[in-house]
Amino acid sequence: MNIVLLGPPGAGKGTVAALLKGALEVPHISTGDIFRENIKNGTELGKRVQGIMASGGLVPDEITIEMVKDRLSKDDTASGYILDGFPRTIGQAEALSGIDDIDAVLNFVLDEEEIVRRLSGRRLCKSTGRIYHIVSNPPKVEGIDDETGEPLIQRDDDKPEAIRHRLEVYKKDTEPLIVYYREKGNLVDIDASPSPEDVLKSILSALKK
Ligand code: AMP
Repeated sequence: MNIVLLGPPGAGKGTVAALLKGALEVPHISTGDIFRENIKNGTELGKRVQGIMASGGLVPDEITIEMVKDRLSKDDTASGYILDGFPRTIGQAEALSGIDDIDAVLNFVLDEEEIVRRLSGRRLCKSTGRIYHIVSNPPKVEGIDDETGEPLIQRDDDKPEAIRHRLEVYKKDTEPLIVYYREKGNLVDIDASPSPEDVLKSILSALKK
């Protein structure tokens, strides 16, 4: 089953995808994670996208589409995948429709106040990618990853100025995809306000239908 997770930054797509991947036994492909991995490893791609990402802008379509094409050609996607953070523009959606049929587009719905609360309190462990929230999902020891003992970090793009920019970009470039996929008939709205476990339940029941 090929699934796209759509929705604003901070709606919990990454957290829920980590659970959904276990339930469906398909890979979780996050374009943001792939870019971050490239930045961490100092690759050419990482160097090209670092500044764009830190400011909360979008990486150009041609770079992103090429990267996703390459990832979707790998053997582990044969029985499906969860795409998280792609497509983010109409151009990307059109490119995706030329690569594969998408079975369901899950549109994470969350109000703006809650989005800002979630993003500004988000912290993560750089090496494992594990996500915390300083209020709703804090680590056992403040600022320290429960498993590795490493200090938690705040993503550059979770700082206030970048959050504002990401929300503007989302509204301008990504929100039109809701209409695009609704017209195609495979969009399902998902209330993203409950806990990740409850969001997962509502997704699994929507996918059964
Ligand atoms: P995310 O982890 O999904 O919030 O993505 C973090 C950042 O990576 C975004 O703010 C963009 O700078 C970049 N990015 C991730 N996915 C895409 C995409 N599909 N198109 C363009 N830029 C992207």
